[in-house]
Amino acid sequence: MNEQTQGQFNLDTNVQFLRGVGPRRAEVFTQLSVHTAGDLLEYFPRGHEFKPPLALMNELRRDHQATVAGQIILMRYHARSRPPRLSLTLEDSTGRCQLVWFRGGYLRDKFVPGDFITAWGKVSQYKETMQIVNPRWTAVQDVDQLFEQEGAGSAVYPACGDMSSMEIGRIIRGSLEQMLSFVAERYDDEFLKSRKLPTRREALEWIHRPPSEEKIGQARRRLAYDELFLMELGIALRRERLQKLQAAYPLDIDDRLDKRIRRLFPFELTGDQNKVITEICADMARTKPMNRLLQGDVGSGKTVVALYAALLAVGRHRQVAVMAPTEILAEQHFQSIELYLRHSRVKRALLKGGLTGKKRDEILEQISRGELDIVVGTQALLQHDVAFKHLALVVVDEQHKFGVRQREIIRGKDLAPHYLVMTATPIPRTLAMTVFGDLDVSTIEHLPPGRGETVTYWYQPEKIKPAYEFIRSHIKQGEQAYIVYPRVEQEYAEEDSSAAGGRPESFHAGAGGDQIKAAVAEYEKLSREVFPELRVGLLHGRMDSRRKQQTMTDFRAGRIQILVATVVIEVGVDVPNATIMVIEHAERFGLAQLHQLRGRIGRGTRKSWCLLFARANTEQSQQRLDIMSRTNDGFRIAEQDLRIRGPGELFGTAQHGLPELKIANLIEDIDLLRMAQRDAFAVARQDTELKTEKNQVLRRELQKQFGEDLGLVDVG
Ligand code: ADP
Ligand code: MG
Repeated sequence: MNEQTQGQFNLDTNVQFLRGVGPRRAEVFTQLSVHTAGDLLEYFPRGHEFKPPLALMNELRRDHQATVAGQIILMRYHARSRPPRLSLTLEDSTGRCQLVWFRGGYLRDKFVPGDFITAWGKVSQYKETMQIVNPRWTAVQDVDQLFEQEGAGSAVYPACGDMSSMEIGRIIRGSLEQMLSFVAERYDDEFLKSRKLPTRREALEWIHRPPSEEKIGQARRRLAYDELFLMELGIALRRERLQKLQAAYPLDIDDRLDKRIRRLFPFELTGDQNKVITEICADMARTKPMNRLLQGDVGSGKTVVALYAALLAVGRHRQVAVMAPTEILAEQHFQSIELYLRHSRVKRALLKGGLTGKKRDEILEQISRGELDIVVGTQALLQHDVAFKHLALVVVDEQHKFGVRQREIIRGKDLAPHYLVMTATPIPRTLAMTVFGDLDVSTIEHLPPGRGETVTYWYQPEKIKPAYEFIRSHIKQGEQAYIVYPRVEQEYAEEDSSAAGGRPESFHAGAGGDQIKAAVAEYEKLSREVFPELRVGLLHGRMDSRRKQQTMTDFRAGRIQILVATVVIEVGVDVPNATIMVIEHAERFGLAQLHQLRGRIGRGTRKSWCLLFARANTEQSQQRLDIMSRTNDGFRIAEQDLRIRGPGELFGTAQHGLPELKIANLIEDIDLLRMAQRDAFAVARQDTELKTEKNQVLRRELQKQFGEDLGLVDVG
């Protein structure tokens, strides 16, 4: 770091001790997550403002933006006007104009007739006089300075509570030089030149004290690059470390085993499935642990692929753990695996969370003796008392939770297992590369053949009655339907729907608004009044798991024709005969969630209908519903979701240990992201422990950013 004799000041100095801050403002800064001088330096403006072109008084034209410069010749405060206003008459050598501030009383002691100021804003006309209402302004020392500031812009900061953007700007600029002198460059000149990046110091200066639009662009690019680079470096180092340190048991496939596995499947695998299986087999044959993400839309056929990998390990006399995020999902996985393995001798078990005592001990013993080939369960499988004899593959179904952290836990035994993460939330390719940058990604793009088309329509809530008739007519043809509600019951505020992207929009529907329909009450009504002749079932999260299971079994067997449900059906339910999904209050569901729900239909050969009933009272919900009606492509939907909500919310950054991005944008800065990723991975390859002299700044920044949390860098 730059050694300067500035007393105790450095970038770790508490913001309270900066010029013009003090304890009270420091408290406000705390709310903005600004604790140190370094944080303040990275408190980036949300935009920049440039003064419009300077105009002489006789050049002022109505409705144009202009900057005027001149001397105050008259100031009047009209206290009794409604609202009260302050007006200045400003004069230059060509004429005069009025500056008017409504409620401008607070400005009275800022101006003295005879002072020089510049002011800018939109020009309007009042009778014969040109005026600017509520202009922005700056004071100027003397007449010679009047025209100097032309062209310079000012940064606009996200304001907070008591502190205005201008005040924040003043504080930052007040210590900017001092802070900048401590900024260490992260890369060498040659590198900066080849990437067309300004120095970090320049970038920080320009972003806070913008000399021109062009420089702001360069500054932003550099700062975004830095952010992305650091994030990617963290990911890259973790990857290198895993690769270097850990050995895995190689599991190779041959024709005989391949044939034996395929015989268990009642269908030919699709081209996409074969492609990803080839990728997986290549990984598993190596002595390094596989780290692969298998992504594919709902119903794309991931389970079979994972099962193929599992059977490869079993064929080589090793064990496999299959983990799901919830008990229900674990159970469903187990059932679908059972379906394929019915006639095989593969030994498999479901390790339920509720299991205690002898039964559990027995299973644990079988696991440790290597007698069980495939064990399905939740995270409980990672618990200490579960000791596999020779675990060689871990399959994790993350659905739409992403737990990069968990991956570390299972490591550290002699031989690391191969690792296959499945996700049904299509992650935009760009983001997969970042969030799962330490995983290789395999994607199933196309659904298995023979699926009927799914169409989606969006209606106003009043139109629900015709939908009932539509359902009735299809059920007469032997099909089945879901009707989904955001809540279980009326009187509870938070429900299964808390999963609704985490942001219920209008819990108390607007004035005179609609009651939020809830599953239990609607079930009563639908089964008695609307469909008395049909078999209607109910499924929600508050039911005990045995009843849930029974209901699902009945629905699968066709004993239930209409299933009234909450989001509990979002994942894993596979009933090809269900062709209609009605979602009421669709505005209350997140986009990813709507897509997952819709994934429950369109599983058979017949055409399916997804009918969304919603009053879209915000622009966001309108966008969501529009996208849903336009496309079935999970990747496009995920990308839109990312645009609407931002990655932070989509992934809950804290969860996977990625830093909050302050300035970079994962969608807009995709090219920069690619470049940063390439560069960071190159650095990680050459200097896995960041030991070389030239990487010391990076190493420090990385530690500051990620801490020891993820064990990204071994201090050493
Ligand atoms: P995912 O886990 O990706 O949501 P699944 O593996 O559950 O998808 O597969 C969805 C459905 O498609 C299942 O009913 C499965 O039997 C079927 N399926 C999978 N692969 C094929 C294939 N190659 N041909 C025909 N049907 C398939
Ligand atoms: Mg599945």
